[in-house]
Amino acid sequence: MTTNIVELEQITEPTSQQIIDENRDYTLFSWSVQNAANPVHLKRAEGVYFWDGDDNRWLDFSSQLINMNVGHQHPKVLNAIKKQVDELCFAGPSFATEPRGTLGKKLAEVTGLAKSFFTLGGSEANENAIKIARLYTGRNKIITRYRSYHGATMGSMTASGDPRRWPVEPGMPGVVRAFDPYCYRCPFGQKVESCHRECVSHIEEIIRMEGPDNIAAILVEGITGSNGLLIPPDDYYPKLRALCDRYGILLIDDEVMSGFGRTGMWLATQHYGIKPDIVTAAKGLTSGYMPLGTVIVSAPIAEYFETHMLYGGLTYSGHPVSCAAANANLAVYEEESIFENVETQGAYLTHRLNSIEQRFACVGDVRSIGLFSVIELVKDKVTREPLAPFNGTSPEMGKLAAYLKSQHLYAFTRFNMLWVCPPLIITQEQLGNGLDIIEEGLRIVDATLAS
Ligand code: PMP
Repeated sequence: MTTNIVELEQITEPTSQQIIDENRDYTLFSWSVQNAANPVHLKRAEGVYFWDGDDNRWLDFSSQLINMNVGHQHPKVLNAIKKQVDELCFAGPSFATEPRGTLGKKLAEVTGLAKSFFTLGGSEANENAIKIARLYTGRNKIITRYRSYHGATMGSMTASGDPRRWPVEPGMPGVVRAFDPYCYRCPFGQKVESCHRECVSHIEEIIRMEGPDNIAAILVEGITGSNGLLIPPDDYYPKLRALCDRYGILLIDDEVMSGFGRTGMWLATQHYGIKPDIVTAAKGLTSGYMPLGTVIVSAPIAEYFETHMLYGGLTYSGHPVSCAAANANLAVYEEESIFENVETQGAYLTHRLNSIEQRFACVGDVRSIGLFSVIELVKDKVTREPLAPFNGTSPEMGKLAAYLKSQHLYAFTRFNMLWVCPPLIITQEQLGNGLDIIEEGLRIVDATLAS
């Protein structure tokens, strides 16, 4: 009898192809033209690897969506989730729970800010950061930058400068955009060694033209992620902070991708020695184990809401299981010296990327900080003509992506760029193996361009 049940289970277990078909037939994939979606069946995962339905092992050089900082299936995070599920699975957002208070306290400690408002992810965190800035300042405009991504809900998508916002425009009113500190392709035609940081001074001009008393906040990614790892010069943030202070404008630092160890610090802006008024975070807050985001506000902003209504909150805000996952995840960062590993492996990564930049004709620039890096591909090193157009792709980039996939290296490519953002627990050997595959891919691109 037992044997029959086992046999029956074996017979009825769906194949990988059936799973993929069911996903494609009954679900919509995000950011995809549906008939071009080509999902891999992700069956199981551990550490820096995952396995597909055919039992191929993939090296995850993208930490899924640059969020699984402690890697897949970390036992301490899994256990914390299981424990919390057993104890208390849900409490409405107006109740006090142990994991919520513990997390708020820890976030205040590591950011130097005061209080957290919990959300379900990064987009919603940015929505609420904008709302909080408007309520607190009584002003309405928000300055953001062109090469930025802040989310896919209506407000956060409008706040983004990324072309992904184009189809939903006009979106939310009151967004004004500025240029980015993109030193490889400086929008002001300057060189970083000799420029006057026109990327900051032109924001001051925008402020004057828009009316300083109308501007609630400047919203920037700590370090721009999905638009190409734009690492500002050392004095960029101090100058931006001073500009905000001069006009009473809040600085909102979107650390959804760059925060929580990705650059080796809690926040990318901590490398620059400045303190924002509001920090938004998500991804590395739980390493993706449960959905969670946060808006962390300064003491004056927290104080304001002591006597003013905070207009916001969803049914699942401050979910106890998500907060428990975050608490365990943040403990892993400290107990397992994850940021130290980021520094060590980050140095190795930078060394390898610099060598790649020198040896491959198709590599125009490499940018990295910690385990957050991009390779920017060009047709010609001298003219810097991109290997694929802005908001487009090219046969060469397609070939590179297909090669990496064929080698079961999961790495994010977009426009003329390739990201290397593995889980922060990666070893040098694992990192080296993935970079060897990338080098082979770049060799193929060089050969194609030369032919
Ligand atoms: N801000 C930044 C900088 C991001 O990279 C992302 C996600 N890639 C978001 C916000 C949106 O976060 P979520 O997808 O969790 O809503």
